[in-house]
Amino acid sequence: MTDRCNLRCQYCMPERDYVWLPRADILDFEELSFLVDVFTGLGVDRVRLTGGEPLVRRNLQQLVSLLASKPSLRDIALTTNGVLLAENAGALREAGLHRVTVSLDTLRPERFHALTRFDELPRVLSGIEAASEVGFSALKIDTVVIRGVNDDELVPLLEYGRRVGAEVRFIEYMDVGGATRWSRDKVVSRRELLDRLERHYGPIDPILEESSAPADRFRIPDGAIFGIISSTTAPFCSSCDRSRLTADGLWYQCLYGAHGTDLRGPLRAGASEAELRGLIETVWRSRSDRGAEVRLAMHDRSPLASVDTLRRDPHLEMHTRGG
Ligand code: SAM
Repeated sequence: MTDRCNLRCQYCMPERDYVWLPRADILDFEELSFLVDVFTGLGVDRVRLTGGEPLVRRNLQQLVSLLASKPSLRDIALTTNGVLLAENAGALREAGLHRVTVSLDTLRPERFHALTRFDELPRVLSGIEAASEVGFSALKIDTVVIRGVNDDELVPLLEYGRRVGAEVRFIEYMDVGGATRWSRDKVVSRRELLDRLERHYGPIDPILEESSAPADRFRIPDGAIFGIISSTTAPFCSSCDRSRLTADGLWYQCLYGAHGTDLRGPLRAGASEAELRGLIETVWRSRSDRGAEVRLAMHDRSPLASVDTLRRDPHLEMHTRGG
């Protein structure tokens, strides 16, 4: 939706300033809707709105309405930091949004500030509660776990999720573009997450399901369910069926991919739906990305891109291509 964000999470946007996408390049809602039609014509039936922070994009509910009117889309989801969610949850639900995922890494105000540079925890919690009240078909909380930062909050976050009716998913800290302070020792692996939670709750059962969702799900003895997204230590490239469209119309097949396919150029030059479909089909059929697996095989794993490289190509940033 946008590369702009109203937080500065240390694992995503730790720098003081950024090179932003030119405003004239940002696709408007009609252009986005047209591209969604192109993708649904090829079999895509789920869309997630992300960013940057999608709720800083004005009148987002208008885009949601446009998307909700397409019978070929069976799932419309939003990933948000929750800061602007309380005032938008009702309108988004009414517009036809199905599911919401809120990123929440801590329940402690001073830690929230240290992690995000803003004192917005109360608004995020109100946002989660508002989303819970308006009744989306699913509400999730995504937590990036970083050793020495918030890895002592697994149980409080899980319990909070349970109280507000949200499924918590713990995400391994990833060495994506923008995570310029990443190091291997700060990653809390899926194995370690499970061990720690088992020490608290007792035996944890994996839930066996056929799914292309990034999270593996687990059940604790009293029935509560949580997920783990283990992109760093146990990647799932072979079952990943996602692709990403940046706010300025570059299309990526992998979160780690070096190059995107420009869809804005042909779109604004008047390409037909069929021509765009042909372009997308050709790229998709020849895709070979398995970025997270390639990263896993590296001996000296360090941040994906330096600050200089990111400034030269902001499309490498996680906040440009969406999480
Ligand atoms: N602003 C929205 C939000 O905060 O949810 C959407 C964009 S954000 C880039 C999407 C997701 O990417 C968030 O859940 C965030 O925690 C995750 N993310 C960003 N950098 C990450 C990293 N280095 N490792 C793992 N997850 C990361």
